[in-house]
Amino acid sequence: MGLTKIFKKLFGNSESTVKRTSQSSSLSKNIGNTTAVCPYCEEKLEKMPKRKTKCPHCENYIYKRTRPYDEVDIIIREDQINIIEEEWAIKNGSHDIYLKEKAREKRIRDGMRERYGKEPADYDVEFRVLNDQAVEAEFSGDWGFARNYRLNMAKNLEKRKRHELALRLYYHVCYLDINGPNNRSGMQSVDLDKYPYFTPKSGFLAPGVIKRMKKLISKLEFDEADCKHGFKEVNNPISKGSPTPLSPENAWIELRKELFGD
Ligand SMILES: [Zn+2]
Repeated sequence: MGLTKIFKKLFGNSESTVKRTSQSSSLSKNIGNTTAVCPYCEEKLEKMPKRKTKCPHCENYIYKRTRPYDEVDIIIREDQINIIEEEWAIKNGSHDIYLKEKAREKRIRDGMRERYGKEPADYDVEFRVLNDQAVEAEFSGDWGFARNYRLNMAKNLEKRKRHELALRLYYHVCYLDINGPNNRSGMQSVDLDKYPYFTPKSGFLAPGVIKRMKKLISKLEFDEADCKHGFKEVNNPISKGSPTPLSPENAWIELRKELFGD
């Protein structure tokens, strides 16, 4: 038995227990199946699925989750994924963030549908949502968070085999990384000396990102000059529009070492 569980047993009336009881009314008690029975066709399965599995009887995808109400392992249908996600947000006290993000996604999806006259692809929506989140983070001075959103934008493009665009977004991520991005939202502007937007001294290049870039560079058959040109083309406007202390010219020296060696 874990320490937390022991404490809960000893001090049953602790704050966390009270909090949980008050939330329980909004959490589903019976959602999902706790035994190896398909949540679509109710046929018996060989064993309880441990991850996303196709039902051998009805061929629908079954998903494994933990039920927020009692933290029991359950298997659910695809249309129940969002319910579980929202209930976890309620339980974790982040329901307002969850609702804000859902509203963002809806606003972006609706806008795209109107503009193109058809239902937009999920990948396109995801890309635009990430871009919106990145811009918002940059506006708040959270350059570390913005960098993470940009990284996910690059991965989104890579998954869709948009190799050159993905590489260009990785250039953007590396430029931020070399500058050492910080998160400053909520801090007083007078602390700017102590907590700047960027600290190049703490900048570093993520090995995982470099690995992905090397793969793309070889797929695109780019040489060092192509990469230098692309890196500067992408980052010159970013350098002008953001408080990054290092120029793309100097940042390229760091990146070049990682990509092409000495
Ligand atoms: Zn089934």
